[in-house]
Amino acid sequence: MTDKTNTTDISQLPNALEHLDEIVLADERRPAVFLDYDGTLTPIVSRPQDAVLSDTMRATLQRLAALCAVAIVSGRDLADVRKLVALKGLWYAGSHGFDIAGPNGECTEFQEGRRYLAELDAAEQDLRGALANVEGCLVERKRFSIATHYRLVAPDNVEQVKNTVQRVHGQHAGLRLKDGKKVLELQPDVDWDKGKALRWLMQVQQLDAAHFVPIYIGDDVTDEDAFRELADDGVGIFVAQETGVTRATCRLDDPDAVQDFLNKLADKLFESQSWTDGS
Ligand SMILES: [Mg+2]
Repeated sequence: MTDKTNTTDISQLPNALEHLDEIVLADERRPAVFLDYDGTLTPIVSRPQDAVLSDTMRATLQRLAALCAVAIVSGRDLADVRKLVALKGLWYAGSHGFDIAGPNGECTEFQEGRRYLAELDAAEQDLRGALANVEGCLVERKRFSIATHYRLVAPDNVEQVKNTVQRVHGQHAGLRLKDGKKVLELQPDVDWDKGKALRWLMQVQQLDAAHFVPIYIGDDVTDEDAFRELADDGVGIFVAQETGVTRATCRLDDPDAVQDFLNKLADKLFESQSWTDGS
């Protein structure tokens, strides 16, 4: 069994575009694709509202979704990510998997998360009060998480933002603090994350691991939960140009490379389907 705590230097990982055949064809199972949104399907931008999905990426997702299961697993609020992707027929998980919607819009909330709504409300108020005067600091409330974005905060004030979030976290024992790209998030401190959400999504779509290979593509710390979950029976792909370590097994350089990968994957699936249909 693979050591689930094992990490690899990102620069040492094989490029998923160059190794698509090994990832897909060497596995007799059919792919099921799980995708993060920011930094994976869209480039990282200064303001979250500017991360708009390109028409070509949307077309790629639509084509792929006709050939295999595709789900979006994002830290964004569920309604927000559904609106940005704007494709029917996909499963969406928002708030890092705490809030899930099916292809027909049916929503599922995790009851464990719901018990923390009052505490999230209180922490949100504390953060908004304490950070109101910090220029560039954006406190974003999602249903099951509060994100404090500091990408636009002057470097001299970043420490103050971090200290404030840590102090507020210390006052709310039911919440946990997660680090992301220029963002700190408070979430319910329960045993749930993107990896658990991925398994749940497989189960609900009857994608058993004996017949389907889960492929997860993401670019951030919270995606490591999904990579760890897939260590034994799936493919984790880290989107990164930077250095560091990850539990993913392959890498892609940027969202353009993700799009190339998804298109090639769709080509392969289409070919194999035509071949099967014609035999
Ligand atoms: Mg991301």
